[in-house]
Amino acid sequence: MKMHHRSETRKIKIGRYYLGGSERVFIQSMCNIKTSKVDEVVKQINECAILGADLMRVSVLDMEDAKAIKDIVSQINIPLIADIHFDYKLAIESINSGAAAVRLNPGNIGSEENVRQVVELCKEKQIPIRIGVNSGSIDKNINNSTDKVKAKELVASAEKMVKTLEKYGFYDIVISLKGSHVKETIEAYRLAAEKFDYPLHLGITEAGPKDIGLIRSTAGIAPLLLDGIGNTIRISLSDEPQEEVRACRRLLKDLDIRNDYPNLISCPTCGRTQVNLVPLAKQVLKYLEENHINKTVAVMGCIVNGPGEAKRADIGCAGGKGQWVIFKKETIIKTVSDENIFGELIKEINKY
Ligand code: SF4
Repeated sequence: MKMHHRSETRKIKIGRYYLGGSERVFIQSMCNIKTSKVDEVVKQINECAILGADLMRVSVLDMEDAKAIKDIVSQINIPLIADIHFDYKLAIESINSGAAAVRLNPGNIGSEENVRQVVELCKEKQIPIRIGVNSGSIDKNINNSTDKVKAKELVASAEKMVKTLEKYGFYDIVISLKGSHVKETIEAYRLAAEKFDYPLHLGITEAGPKDIGLIRSTAGIAPLLLDGIGNTIRISLSDEPQEEVRACRRLLKDLDIRNDYPNLISCPTCGRTQVNLVPLAKQVLKYLEENHINKTVAVMGCIVNGPGEAKRADIGCAGGKGQWVIFKKETIIKTVSDENIFGELIKEINKY
């Protein structure tokens, strides 16, 4: 069966944006603070938005959270998605409070009548529903596996809910199928891209702390993005959402899917290195990110190989013995002492 490329998926309105079709791949993350703590949640969402989050999601555990959405949305500028498990009434209250979308888990949202009530309100308010299947809470009638959840079961769980929504004439649907195993998740999304023309939200669930989670998420999400699958991504980490947003942006930049992020090239260092490269590379990356400088900058360990290995950099520096050279497209433009390299490099970056 032919797969639907991301550009062939339906376009879904979410807040002031459209998701799917020819739209860019959206970056999203999720707050890790109780939603009723409005001030803290607003601060976190706004920080994530500055870092490049297109969408943010909040958990709605109780009515207090659902009502808090009203105060939150009045203080943020990006669409807010309400994440609902178990109680459809929380979805109803979240929508009435101004959520731009709701995520429902088909494994635990309950009866079709509950879903119908949410659907009717979403239709009236013109907001989408994400069907968010997780391997940990798959539909009990579908999950017959004795070991890990299989890709087909993730898709079947989503399909069951898609059919229910379509039965009520609702098509503003986004689908996610997050397994915690990389291969099963990739397989599930490939099946879903064949079966549905709805936008897909990609992610690996329970990916772990940053060291593990970045690798696991990238291993799962990158092959799909390169295949043309996926309209929005989340890199789930046992870390702050700001880190998730940074990771999403870096991944999309490295895959040439979005070009709105700085690109730092730095070498691994070796026996030729006679400068303290690692802190400089980190300092430069931080500066580029904080100042939204979307250039390719290189920090290399030696003059012998550095400028050549960093050919694709707009500007870069390479270490010598206690000093550095700054180069533009392989041509050395100045020599700088170790203590002045950061300031001088930044000056040249800003001139460029
Ligand atoms: S650029 Fe130079 S210092 Fe860095 S890894 Fe290559 S050879 Fe070693």
